[in-house]
Amino acid sequence: MRLSRFHLHTSKETPAEAEIISHKLMLKAGMIRKLAAGLYTWSPLGLRVLRKVERAVREEMDAAGAIELLMPTIQPQELWEETGRWEKFGGQLLKIKDRKEAGYCYGPTAEEVITDFARSELASYKQLPVNFYNIQTKFRDEIRPRFGVMRAREFLMKDAYSFHLTEEDLGREYRNMYDTYGRIFQRLGLKFRAVFADTGAIGGSASHEFHVLADSGEDAIAFSSGSDYAANVELAQALAPGARAAASEQMRRIDTPVQKTCEDVAALMGIDLARTVKSVALTGEDADGQPQFVLALVRGDHVVNEIKLAKLAGLGNYRLATEGEIDAHLGSEPGFLGPVAPRAPIRVVADRSVAAMADFVVGANEKGFHLAGVNWGRDLPEPDEVADIRNVVEGDASPDGQGTLSIARGIEVGHVFQLGRKYAEAMQCTVLDETGRASVPLMGCYGIGVSRIVAAAIEQNFDANGIVWPEAMAPWHVAVCMINPKNDPAVSDAAQALYDELNAAGIEAVLDDRGLRPGAMFADIELIGIPHRVVVSERGLASGSFEYRHRRASEAENLDRAALLARLG
Ligand code: ATP
Ligand code: MG
Ligand code: MG
Ligand code: MG
Repeated sequence: MRLSRFHLHTSKETPAEAEIISHKLMLKAGMIRKLAAGLYTWSPLGLRVLRKVERAVREEMDAAGAIELLMPTIQPQELWEETGRWEKFGGQLLKIKDRKEAGYCYGPTAEEVITDFARSELASYKQLPVNFYNIQTKFRDEIRPRFGVMRAREFLMKDAYSFHLTEEDLGREYRNMYDTYGRIFQRLGLKFRAVFADTGAIGGSASHEFHVLADSGEDAIAFSSGSDYAANVELAQALAPGARAAASEQMRRIDTPVQKTCEDVAALMGIDLARTVKSVALTGEDADGQPQFVLALVRGDHVVNEIKLAKLAGLGNYRLATEGEIDAHLGSEPGFLGPVAPRAPIRVVADRSVAAMADFVVGANEKGFHLAGVNWGRDLPEPDEVADIRNVVEGDASPDGQGTLSIARGIEVGHVFQLGRKYAEAMQCTVLDETGRASVPLMGCYGIGVSRIVAAAIEQNFDANGIVWPEAMAPWHVAVCMINPKNDPAVSDAAQALYDELNAAGIEAVLDDRGLRPGAMFADIELIGIPHRVVVSERGLASGSFEYRHRRASEAENLDRAALLARLG
């Protein structure tokens, strides 16, 4: 590529709206341009990097035996109704109507679509195991899109879905994907950790998240000094010795059950009822094994999910309450789960800590509104009263009894799940097993945030002058810069020849033939993070050398052609 023919649009200004370094540098380097909240155009430069990530992901997935396909971004409502997620998925689901008033959503993930594909395409055990993946745009109507493409609304995800007849086979593929993810992130030059994760609302038996370590990360992860134990902090806290006891002590019930109206509860908690719009209802067991029903009524601008609620309420063995159970507990008062009915009686089995979160846990009216993947501190304020329950702190004993825990910040770039039969069962997907019986397959799902990785990589690879791309993600590997080419045609000839030679040798080079002054040219090349810079100048040519500098090196060195090619090859 000749830069004079490319669209490079860098900026000296540090954009005021950007809070973290990757967002700042992506804007300054002109990699992305904001269209609207959480929506970005990838410039030609940004796209080159995005494609590099995509390529690494695709090649490793292919090598691991997964098979690529491409699913639509728009998904029909009926499919989501089959799994109950049309209601349950929550506000992140962007719902759309076509001209015939038929309902659709913009896919935030594709379990329904792939299960639909599987039920019509997979008939026999002979077609299993199989792992389908696609790299496709997703949309999630995030409450707080921020940090540029790090938490966008429209983003690029690699999502894979595998189908199996036995638990062992699912476990084998899960391990295969776990190892593949390690290879992908290593190849991309990222410092990362795999951690145990909550399976949350998606359910299933096993789950790991892959985190790129960075101080700006929105998640906290805990890992042990004495073993391989690593978990996201929410899970570490749930598993930590003593956590349960501490939780039930804090969660001592104050009033069981309380018969109140929405208005009473609102008054008690100082909440504006008009702003209360969501609910989470759980049934589970308290610390003494007694069955309990807990209803969290959530203010409109906050969210809470079942994992958090169960933790706060000290519930074990919990699940989402069914509509029938909710009705039974609410005295079947019509209207309560419809629009807020101030006088509707609600029986809140409230506990002190839930009450203490008065700022956000109160009344609700939307049926089945549950959000998964909610992080404290980011999506919810940190309620003081429960801080010591949730937080695992640096130096705590590791839950496996080996060593102590360190806490680090992480950016979730990948997530693998064993889903079990949940989706296949709900959608009546079966295959014939060896004995000719219809069998519901087990599924695994495996996601990677392709576009988020671009930002995450910058969080780990930058300096005062800009981005320092890991080799595998660089838009080009070498920049050939010509100094004052107009003064001496030999300079531009030599630069062009070197550029041709590098590309012929399979080394991705870009020729900076824009005719900028050296200072401005070098500033751009450093800002956009090209790993290797070669300067072709009149003086260098006179002494038969090229000035070479690695992006991470403090000094340039003069190399003759052979030494230069050896260095770059
Ligand atoms: P998060 O906890 O950051 O909201 P998630 O757990 O909701 O992510 P998954 O459902 O596990 O996300 O999706 C798979 C991957 O997609 C994530 O590991 C992440 O890398 C990426 N991803 C999810 N949401 C976004 C987003 N809003 N913007 C960019 N990438 C995202
Ligand atoms: Mg998450
Ligand atoms: Mg999320
Ligand atoms: Mg996740």
